[in-house]
Amino acid sequence: MAGERLVAIVGAGSIGTGWAIVFARAGWRVSLYDPVVGQLDAARQEIATRTTRLERFGLISEGGCGLLERIEMTTDLAVAASDCAYVQECAPENPALKRDLFAALIEAAPADAVLASSTSAIAPSSLFLGLNGVERCLVAHPVNPPYLLAVVEVVPSAETSKATLARTVELLADVGMNPITVNSEVEGFVVNRLQGAILREAYCLFRDGVASLDDIDRAVREGLGRRWAVTGPFETADLNVRGGIAAHAERMGPAYERMGAERGQHDPWTPELVAAAAGVRRELLPLQEWEQRVVWRDEQLMRQEYEGMSTRECEVGRT
Ligand code: NAD
Repeated sequence: MAGERLVAIVGAGSIGTGWAIVFARAGWRVSLYDPVVGQLDAARQEIATRTTRLERFGLISEGGCGLLERIEMTTDLAVAASDCAYVQECAPENPALKRDLFAALIEAAPADAVLASSTSAIAPSSLFLGLNGVERCLVAHPVNPPYLLAVVEVVPSAETSKATLARTVELLADVGMNPITVNSEVEGFVVNRLQGAILREAYCLFRDGVASLDDIDRAVREGLGRRWAVTGPFETADLNVRGGIAAHAERMGPAYERMGAERGQHDPWTPELVAAAAGVRRELLPLQEWEQRVVWRDEQLMRQEYEGMSTRECEVGRT
């Protein structure tokens, strides 16, 4: 049986050190591997600095020293993986290098360990194709930095076993992450697709001189982004129009269709698509609870405003 609550993190750069904090903060022992000795020294320093900041913001319940004591560093891949329950690979985004690593990790890790890659853009089916042990492998793509942004995209390949997927979701939730399962291996998964959609439009608006770059940033930072921190795009639309997302689509759908067509993307929200989305929303939020949820959203925004004001006051006090 693989070592309980022992994770091997492979690659000690930005993402590897971030994952090390996630697991150590949750009480796991961490074996952090990197082939570059100097990188491990830098990682130790980086983790200590980030931990001190987390402590200052009250985001770790114990002293930072306890967390650091649970992290061991090694330049020996076999040692790192030998007794672990879970591997989180964080090596450079190079398919050949990652494939070689997974082949070695499958040999070195216990037979019941799950092996996950942090890759941002390599489809799991091509990454793990033909590996002996492919059923234990999948992608767990974090958002940077993972110890502050909890969403992680779990992407199985066609060959990943259902048990591996279920175990990974459970394990990541257990260490305080917020896993979402990606059902199909689309390029960019979900997070970068959403991010890409808004970045594409932002570039077009900037290129066409519709607004300055900083004004476009402020439109998101001071408006859309603050609301998205409370409700995702579907819930935002649902709460924006009395009658919910179906009423929103009826009112706004034609305008959004024209905007998409103007950019060469003709993906209208068909009546069937809207009905499917509305069906899910009404299960999550019956219309009779709609008013109450709008009040909740507004209170979340008030809380953000209050916390923002306190932060601004602190910053003013510091100068
Ligand atoms: P990085 O360059 O900061 O770190 C990579 C680390 O891997 C370095 O410490 C390097 O010494 C080490 N390394 C080199 N060869 C290795 C090998 N053969 N085996 C193991 N480690 C090796 O890169 P990063 O930004 O931490 O990205 C790591 C992975 O995480 C990539 O797949 C990337 O796509 C993914 N990712 C990155 C981000 C991000 O915003 N940086 C976000 C999500 C996912």
